[in-house]
Amino acid sequence: MPASVSGRTVRSVAAPIRREEARVAEGKNNRRASDAARPAKETGRQLRRLERRLAAVRDTEARRERQLEKARRRGVALEATIAALRPAPEPGPPVGPAAYCLREKRRVAIVDPEPIVLRNGRAALAGTCPSCGARVVTTARATVGAVPDGRSGDPAES
Ligand SMILES: [Zn+2]
Repeated sequence: MPASVSGRTVRSVAAPIRREEARVAEGKNNRRASDAARPAKETGRQLRRLERRLAAVRDTEARRERQLEKARRRGVALEATIAALRPAPEPGPPVGPAAYCLREKRRVAIVDPEPIVLRNGRAALAGTCPSCGARVVTTARATVGAVPDGRSGDPAES
């Protein structure tokens, strides 16, 4: 490392430090001289510093709240967009009374279900298939029992 460069560097850095040290020493002396005025002055300065810090914190708080609000709105909008784009779910198992459609060979929801009693005495639920219109009948106890007047609740029957 060239001595001239390092010498200049040291000098240029050292000079301000020396000036700062001198100022600090002077300040100490000044403060010592006016000891009575010092607490109020210090407190005032500290107060202003803390108030500035509080203002900064409040500022950050407000900014974060705005960000959070924005993010929430964006989330709601995205949910709506996704819901609109998402294909309708495959028709799953029917929610209401269901029966097996013999024509289509699959379970369907019963349209206009009505409780009936089969020739063998079992309670059943009869209605119409919603897609092909065939008459559908179910004797599933849970389904039949779900409709008033269905008589399948009685274990002696099965
Ligand atoms: Zn059908």
